[in-house]
Amino acid sequence: MKILKDRTGQIVTKGKDERELACDKASLAGSVSQRACVFCGSRVVLYPIADALHLIHGPVGCASYTWDIRGALSSGPQLHRLSFSTDLKEQQVVFGGEKILTSALVELVNEYKPKAAFVYSTCIVGLIGDDVEAVCRQVGKETGIDVIPVQAPGFAGTKKDGYKVACDALMRLVGTKGSEETIPNSINIIGDFNLAGELYLLRDYYEKMGVKIVSTITGDGRVDDIRQSHKAALNIVQCSGSMSNLAMQMEQKYKVPYMRVSYFGIEDMSGALYEVARFFENESMMNKAIELVRTEVSDLIPKLGKYKETLEGKRAAIYVGGAFKAISLIKALRMIGVQTVVVGSQTGNKEDYKIMKEISDEGTILVDDTNPLELTQFVKETKADILIGGVKERPIAYKLGIGFCDHNHERKLALAGYEGMLNFAKEIYATAMSPVFQFTKS
Ligand code: SF4
Repeated sequence: MKILKDRTGQIVTKGKDERELACDKASLAGSVSQRACVFCGSRVVLYPIADALHLIHGPVGCASYTWDIRGALSSGPQLHRLSFSTDLKEQQVVFGGEKILTSALVELVNEYKPKAAFVYSTCIVGLIGDDVEAVCRQVGKETGIDVIPVQAPGFAGTKKDGYKVACDALMRLVGTKGSEETIPNSINIIGDFNLAGELYLLRDYYEKMGVKIVSTITGDGRVDDIRQSHKAALNIVQCSGSMSNLAMQMEQKYKVPYMRVSYFGIEDMSGALYEVARFFENESMMNKAIELVRTEVSDLIPKLGKYKETLEGKRAAIYVGGAFKAISLIKALRMIGVQTVVVGSQTGNKEDYKIMKEISDEGTILVDDTNPLELTQFVKETKADILIGGVKERPIAYKLGIGFCDHNHERKLALAGYEGMLNFAKEIYATAMSPVFQFTKS
């Protein structure tokens, strides 16, 4: 297949191409990127804050597109699961939408009494130029809560720009409650979105080690916890593509250091726990981490062995949003005998792709910000048996007649932590070995 000329820098084959992979670029017009829009990026980050109101200022389609997008669970309030929209129509496009936004906000705040409100601007608001900031300020004064504008017209950049906008919105809350005093041995869990309750597993691991959790941003998020998150001694960032920016801003403003981790696969999950104990230079914490890892891994390995035996020699293509997740997936697949033949992400940076290349096998295709045509071709060329991705990759796998594993926001299966590794092995086994594929190969 011919690759669009301007895309060639964003694709390399390990062992064949020595050059670095080009990334951090705007999507090429006409290439139908697998990425989402700026607004979607901001929404996926902020959505799991469960006691906040989320109002989408725009046509109802934008709200529907991102409704319940992360499937993020809350241990308390469920306000985040409602998708409010000002449902802009032709009349507002011509005469402006500030009035409708003001009345919708006041009505919703009075009805639901949220701890704070996020107001998302979509493409159309970017075009008609409503002063969303001024409306938020005015309604905030009237209602006595923080009403935070999230300026995210879809067309204004990439999904990654939306992440940045969301981090800026969060920074308006961070540091607004509690003293400056740091809580010893405490962390914020940043960049876990509590899909299928994954955050509950992580919380449990950290608490067993004696680590205090000040806030979880944004999975199972609460406005008041985020307000005092500056008191944590350390930020632990998963999903670095979306949330590293928040950690960097908190480091600059509140001197909270951060580290990037991944919770997928035995190696990275254990590494995350050890790194935290090492950071606090706490012997008892380290011993508890060692004990926890020993117990979990000795229970898990024999269970994985059964799947590895059958899966040995299978080939996987990975295309996910975050590059750190892709790195973990290569390792997790190797652990169950599956070779990665294609790997890529929507938002990876140079450092991520360098690691990805280092740990990949010769011949692996690495691709940044791909599109359906390229991905289809790479899957065919490499004879992958399984595609691991999200909602936009699912139809590609089904059309090609190969197995698919949902490793994105829509899934309802916990894949993080030790329990998640077992679920992952079962999922890969079920899809790769499904008897249905004997009918798709002819
Ligand atoms: S691209 Fe624009 S119109 Fe489409 S969902 Fe994003 S904000 Fe809405």
